[in-house]
Amino acid sequence: MRTLKELFLDELADRYDSEKRLVIAMPKMIKAATCPDLRKLLETHLMETERQVTKVEKVFKLFSEKPSTKKCDATIGLVTETAEAILDNKGSPLLNVALICAAQKVEHYEIASYGCLIEWAGLLRNILGEAILKEILEEEKDANQALLELARKTSNAMAQNASCADGSCVVEKKVKSPKRAA
Ligand code: ZN
Ligand code: FE
Ligand code: FE
Ligand code: FE
Repeated sequence: MRTLKELFLDELADRYDSEKRLVIAMPKMIKAATCPDLRKLLETHLMETERQVTKVEKVFKLFSEKPSTKKCDATIGLVTETAEAILDNKGSPLLNVALICAAQKVEHYEIASYGCLIEWAGLLRNILGEAILKEILEEEKDANQALLELARKTSNAMAQNASCADGSCVVEKKVKSPKRAA
């Protein structure tokens, strides 16, 4: 009979694998981003992600388990799509918007996963583990919100043929606005 604790530890091992993969993948996104705001946002979340790896290890400990990884195929897929987005939008001012979209997909996946883990940690009466998972969830939600707000700023600016709201973006090619009929 499979226990809820086993299911919980499986999902936690998925998270552990995922966060470690993201620590490796995020510097590539930072390098690709041409928007200074986006780069800063991703750098901040990369540092948070590094700490999340340690936080997940702590949760394992609180369940008297050694940290273990379970290959997260979803994260592998999301990282692959991110690499594709970078290639497809290279040299385009749309690159930052595409990167934001890719990053938001990761955050949404993380939000769903940590949300479930929090519920299960509560059912398993592990209050300290639950608290750490809640901390991580808040970080993922904040990262998603910051990305969303930046996307709006960037998209709006692009519609006006500019770089980003403060004009600090290095835009190699401008998006042409359609010619108006006289
Ligand atoms: Zn910008
Ligand atoms: Fe994370
Ligand atoms: Fe996964
Ligand atoms: Fe995240």
